[in-house]
Amino acid sequence: MNLEDKLFLDRYVVDEIPHLRIINLDKCAICKKQQCLYTCPAQCYKLEEGRVVVSYEGCLECGTCRIICDEYKNIEWKYPRGGFGICYKYG
Ligand code: SF4
Ligand code: SF4
Repeated sequence: MNLEDKLFLDRYVVDEIPHLRIINLDKCAICKKQQCLYTCPAQCYKLEEGRVVVSYEGCLECGTCRIICDEYKNIEWKYPRGGFGICYKYG
């Protein structure tokens, strides 16, 4: 089973209030490693027209991005409100 198939098994109750955000996009522009782009298992971080963007809707709540953005500490992250977020069908 590939990653896309596994992610398809998850269920989400998406809150209209984002539980994570990039604090300062200017810092992403000077961030050399941009490690959020390749460490998020759900690929929530993407490059759009050369700028880093994040979509919180598919977040697995693993917390990786809040740790790996260690140079600029540029991600504000908290768990979704109660009743919202991911629901794992397995595990
Ligand atoms: S690692 Fe942090 S500062 Fe660098 S591009 Fe990603 S969010 Fe921006
Ligand atoms: S918490 Fe995990 S799944 Fe959610 S955006 Fe960060 S790295 Fe991606």
